[in-house]
Amino acid sequence: MLDYITALVILAAAALTVGAGLLVAWLRDRAASSFLWWATGFGATAIGLALVAAHPLPDIVTVGLANLLLLLAFAGWIWGARRLDGLSLRPEALLPAATWLLSIAVPELRETFFLRFALLNTGSAIGYVLLARAIWPRPAAAAAALPAGSSRRPMALFLLLAGIWSLAIAGAGLWLRPPALGGFPIAWLDGIVEVLILLVIVIYGARLVRERVEMRLRVLADTDPLTGVLNRRGLGERLERLLARAREPGGALALLMFDLDHFKRVNDSFGHETGDLVLQAFCRRAEAQLRPDDLFGRLGGEEFAAVLQVQDIGQAQEVAERIRLALARAPVEAAGRRVPVTVSVGVALLQPGAETAMAARPFEVADSALYAAKAGGRNRVELAGAPAG
Ligand code: GH3
Ligand code: MG
Ligand code: MG
Repeated sequence: MLDYITALVILAAAALTVGAGLLVAWLRDRAASSFLWWATGFGATAIGLALVAAHPLPDIVTVGLANLLLLLAFAGWIWGARRLDGLSLRPEALLPAATWLLSIAVPELRETFFLRFALLNTGSAIGYVLLARAIWPRPAAAAAALPAGSSRRPMALFLLLAGIWSLAIAGAGLWLRPPALGGFPIAWLDGIVEVLILLVIVIYGARLVRERVEMRLRVLADTDPLTGVLNRRGLGERLERLLARAREPGGALALLMFDLDHFKRVNDSFGHETGDLVLQAFCRRAEAQLRPDDLFGRLGGEEFAAVLQVQDIGQAQEVAERIRLALARAPVEAAGRRVPVTVSVGVALLQPGAETAMAARPFEVADSALYAAKAGGRNRVELAGAPAG
């Protein structure tokens, strides 16, 4: 059978690997401080476990430092979990480590093994419960968009159980008053359980790394590199999801299709690079007219689309007009030149339960309205189904 020291070393190596993965995730995206905190937690765990594995040196410093690091790891994990939801860092995450510091600072506690032992396990219990609370999904946070969003609830429940276990061990220590760890009859069982709990936390950390990588790839695959808005694929996927979802009664979905007018001439007169800057400027002006929940993307070339949840087609038309005006109102300043540009817009509406042509081919319906806008003289908004002119 695997001996205990070997198990600790393997676990330390696993924690170190996961910590390194999280550190790399943070280095690639410095804004995601959550991953730096998680990495710190796993780094502290790895060193703490390595020190425990080096135990036969029964030095209070080694034991003291090892346990301090293992309890400090909770702060890294708790703050990492809170940062994931964009929450502030609270000092209570340091409570587990503070409990241990208390037990080595006060001579009566330090000299009495069972008191130290009970405090250590109480500190762990506090750490597990605080971490469980930090991981428990919040309704406010868009849990689906966060890494490991799906497994937050079971993980939190598991941590709660871990907290109960540690508290029970603390209680057993106070009751049995062992003079040393060797005198605690279920020390071996507690050792195995603690290692298994840490193993689960390390596996959860590995999931965070994997889901983070997957999320980055998904964002890359769905984003247009020139303008930073959704590409055709990203927009189409989100539109499909919206269409599949039941909407609130009376609500409808509107698809707006945009095509910049005479864009060939813009390129011919100002150059392709300036044309690129104009495409970017159009996106910024359009986005400024949209709500955060609206979708906006580039279908290709100088063609764009927006998807809005509206009450009626009048509301969609209003937004389309606003975007058209936002572009026509003032020339785009690009590379020191003023480039006048306009856009034509086709608007189509999908009423839930109404005809299915839009549901089947939403882009074709909006595109025919856009064609009517072009035929009608450009720099205008045209509604699908409305007589052109
Ligand atoms: P219309 O008003 O009928 O839409 O005229 P148009 O010139 O915009 O139409 P057309 O579809 O013939 O031309 C689109 C132009 O958009 C041609 C192409 O060079 C330009 N274009 C497509 N993609 C890009 C791009 O990424 N950057 C730049 N600068 N131009 C692009
Ligand atoms: Mg075009
Ligand atoms: Mg065009």
